[in-house]
Amino acid sequence: MNRRRRKYPCPSCKSHLNIVRRGFYFRTGDRRTIQRLHCKVCGDNFSAASLSLSYWQKKRSINSPLAKLLASHNTMRRSALLLGVDRKTVSRRLPYLATLARKSHLRFIKKLNGSVHRVEFDDLETFEHSKGKPISVAMAVESKTRKILAFSVSQMPAKGTIAARSRKRYGLRLDLRSKGWAALFTDLRASVDPSAKFLSDQNPHYPRFVKKFFPLATHETMKGRRGFAGGQGELKVGGYDPMFSLNHTFAMLRANICRLIRRTWCTTKKIEALDDHIALYVNFHNAVLLQTSGV
Ligand SMILES: [Zn+2]
Repeated sequence: MNRRRRKYPCPSCKSHLNIVRRGFYFRTGDRRTIQRLHCKVCGDNFSAASLSLSYWQKKRSINSPLAKLLASHNTMRRSALLLGVDRKTVSRRLPYLATLARKSHLRFIKKLNGSVHRVEFDDLETFEHSKGKPISVAMAVESKTRKILAFSVSQMPAKGTIAARSRKRYGLRLDLRSKGWAALFTDLRASVDPSAKFLSDQNPHYPRFVKKFFPLATHETMKGRRGFAGGQGELKVGGYDPMFSLNHTFAMLRANICRLIRRTWCTTKKIEALDDHIALYVNFHNAVLLQTSGV
């Protein structure tokens, strides 16, 4: 009887015990030999790859370059072209890469362990498919380091001159931003000190979320400032900007996530894909861009 506890549990009966090795197979995708395993409890055969997130993936070699391309201002189409794979391969790989990125981000947040004392937060607006279907991306960054601590993506109704046209064309669009802010602040509790200082603009909704999730914190609000022409609203005209870290991060998001560029050259078609794409960027931003100089 093999009593050794194996790293991989049996996918059928979840047993870690009584699992024995039974041959190999050669995986052509990345030219690796993979161990086959056999469960003596239920008789199932599986392999070390069965429980991996990349199970059944062809073209594993594109994973790492694709994550970098998508976090560096490439569209899904252009990434597919550069890597020599089909567009469908790229769009199917995005949720997988986002899952890995979210896991990596969670490890980063765990390390911070409530050590963040100064947080800037705000919303960035974009849209899915058309301007009539706007989306709000709430994000919080650490002031000192510009590291992104959390974000949430929510749908919102159209405002202003296109509101009536949007309702006529797409029906009533629920405002889910409150849920998004609640999710953002719930996530922040893992990395931010309970008595931290929060900075934001004068959005009337913000104070109640800070109060609810961080009752001991201080919250400073400041008047929104005019952006300069090339700054797409995020980079401000002249002088010291107290929300520089957040505004600079939003500008980086717009520059590096192609679907966030204004106008309509490249747009988001599905809100889930936007969420995935931002998750991918956030990990790249914290783990790669901020570690190298000149960004
Ligand atoms: Zn089993």
